[in-house]
Amino acid sequence: MTRPASRSATPPATEQRPVRHVREHERRVASCTACQLHASRTRAVPGEGPMDAKLVLVGLAPRRQEDLKGVAFAGGARNVLDNAMLAAGIDPAGVRITSLVRCRPPEDRSPTRDEVATCAPHLTTELDLMEPEVIVSFGAFATAVLCGRPVTIEQIAGYRLAIRRGVTLIPTYHPVDAVRGVPQAAAALRRDLVAAKAVLDGRLRTGAEVLEELRSDEVVGS
Ligand code: SF4
Repeated sequence: MTRPASRSATPPATEQRPVRHVREHERRVASCTACQLHASRTRAVPGEGPMDAKLVLVGLAPRRQEDLKGVAFAGGARNVLDNAMLAAGIDPAGVRITSLVRCRPPEDRSPTRDEVATCAPHLTTELDLMEPEVIVSFGAFATAVLCGRPVTIEQIAGYRLAIRRGVTLIPTYHPVDAVRGVPQAAAALRRDLVAAKAVLDGRLRTGAEVLEELRSDEVVGS
């Protein structure tokens, strides 16, 4: 009879590889000096949460509290986000939270186009390593980079888009917008996290399925 594998046994090399690569990615972000933002940061924010998460949340850039703590979201925005996840039936501990730009822009200004372009490969690497099923992007900036075209969040929030490798992208408002009382932001954030959970559970069509249906409607209507 074959003995069951011990829980403490060293996993095979193939299982270790993704974790090792994510650690390398995190080290690379932490020591990155590729753009001017490295000079004024306290800490770069590599992202947090499990490497095998099927849901990834992508924000814009660290702000003051995130810069000090080295975490992806902190303070009021973190409370709003955690509460919205719990209300949607999502365990925050099982979600990867990351950002488009990893170092805080001075005075919490928006990152420049150059800074975004220089930092975006870190996000690409992270997503390649993780292979999530659903990405929720916060705000127009992060959404535009992930879907490859300019957008306004008012127009695109709540859509299910098909992006790279069959991933479903759901754009929504940034939790900071909810803290600031931007109309619709808190309700849209909750709604879109509920949709993300439903896609993960197979109760709602993926972005690829929505796209497929739109294409077949076009063929029928032509
Ligand atoms: S913002 Fe990104 S590209 Fe610029 S130094 Fe930080 S990690 Fe590097």
